[in-house]
Amino acid sequence: MATLRIKGLTKTYGQLKALDNVDLTVEEGKLAAILGPSGSGKSTLVRAIAGFVVPDCGEIFLGERDITHERPEHRNTAMVFQSYALWPHMTVYQNIAFGLKLKKKTPEEIAKKVKWALELVDLPGLEERLPTQLSGGQQQRVALARALVVDPEILLLDEPLSNLDAKIRYKLRFEIKKLQKRLNITTIYITHDQEEALSIADSVVLLKDGRVMQAGAPQDIYSRPGDLFVAEFLGASNIVTGKTLRDEGGLYASLGGTRLPVPDDKKENDEVSLILRADEVELTTEKPAESEDYYVLKGILCDQMYLGSRWRYEVSTPEGHSLLVDHDRNLAAHSEIYLCISRDRLYIY
Ligand code: ADP
Repeated sequence: MATLRIKGLTKTYGQLKALDNVDLTVEEGKLAAILGPSGSGKSTLVRAIAGFVVPDCGEIFLGERDITHERPEHRNTAMVFQSYALWPHMTVYQNIAFGLKLKKKTPEEIAKKVKWALELVDLPGLEERLPTQLSGGQQQRVALARALVVDPEILLLDEPLSNLDAKIRYKLRFEIKKLQKRLNITTIYITHDQEEALSIADSVVLLKDGRVMQAGAPQDIYSRPGDLFVAEFLGASNIVTGKTLRDEGGLYASLGGTRLPVPDDKKENDEVSLILRADEVELTTEKPAESEDYYVLKGILCDQMYLGSRWRYEVSTPEGHSLLVDHDRNLAAHSEIYLCISRDRLYIY
């Protein structure tokens, strides 16, 4: 196990920067989720760590060792792919044993280690099956066992659950997390699913166009998105864009009939974006007391959707914006309502 340190990693394909000066540290035994839209450079990053992509510049360190120019087979990394990539003509046993054979382990050592790996991923008894005789979830467990059996210093998971159905995906997500903690293995976990990233990771790194937009603990990155892209990508349900206004009290933005502060660098009639998450807004039918802690916005219920445990309402504001807000009671259509949002939960860009 080792700390992974990446400095200034850049990879271009023609004019396109797949990785643009990426800095990243994953402490020993931690799991970093690399999150970003398609084409943001996630796979290029993980392939550069594994040694399948040669960077133009930058450095990759595993512990004190500079592995930037090491051959892939000398790096002691292991990778799990979205497509499982098991050898179809080999049994489960042979698939898992393959890496150990390459390392010239004895048959006894191999048998012992394969048994250990199969128990780890909860698949004993399936040694003689072929991959086609396994479900998708079982195939991915085998791929995981094959990766872990060689005791890698770093585990690279490239969208490992994206091919599985929702229920298995959810279950395996927690199993991977438990295994990773139990083995204390430094792990990079690539995903485009923000919920998966936030739930599994010790740290989340958000990529866009090959650049790190923000990195940090899941709670920090979720509750303090650095810009509009990050907020939007991490599941903001309401993004409202409007113009700044000025009166004798100074510059402000208006939402729900309430004055909201705007960033210092704005001028009159500049565009501002306001972000509110549906689950962070409290909806009430009684007008709340004024407070230093929260903003109160006015609106009218114009549509509703039943979500099982709660209702989701569309609220129209006097400025003509629509906001989505959750509430646990069924309210009459067209009611006048109030929205309370904690001042530190309304993001203004
Ligand atoms: P992601 O995994 O986030 O979807 P990738 O790392 O696969 O993104 O790709 C990042 C960018 O680099 C994309 O625009 C992709 O088209 C480009 N790219 C990746 N590999 C190659 C390649 N071998 N040749 C040319 N362009 C590539």
